[in-house]
Amino acid sequence: MIEGGCHCGAIRYALSAPPQQSMICHCKTCRRVSGAPVVAWLTVDPDALAITKGAPAHHSSSANVDRQFCNQCGTQLTYARTDDDSYIDVTTASLDDPDAFPPSHHSWLSHDIACIKFGDGLPAFQKSRGDG
Ligand SMILES: [Zn+2]
Ligand SMILES: [Zn+2]
Repeated sequence: MIEGGCHCGAIRYALSAPPQQSMICHCKTCRRVSGAPVVAWLTVDPDALAITKGAPAHHSSSANVDRQFCNQCGTQLTYARTDDDSYIDVTTASLDDPDAFPPSHHSWLSHDIACIKFGDGLPAFQKSRGDG
């Protein structure tokens, strides 16, 4: 079982299947909602995600987007599109073992903060991987 949760422990979750994708998002919306230069995400089957403790709060950061977070400590937990229930993204860094699923690429370099450099050699896309 793959488990994770927020910083304060109020929210815990479990994944019953490994993620379909692991990536790092440089978009400005992820940056603002997290207060961090980038956010690492795992894409999972919504049926594989179970909230096992607590009840996350919700924030609609863009049209048709629902983000869940802990309303006590602020940890960002998930990203979902309300018009596409085929996947949900879970923050890699909220896993108990964030090294378990290394990222395969970077997305949204068009929004990047220039002073933060990675140098990990992974493919980097100006938008999402599908958009090039
Ligand atoms: Zn919390
Ligand atoms: Zn993003």
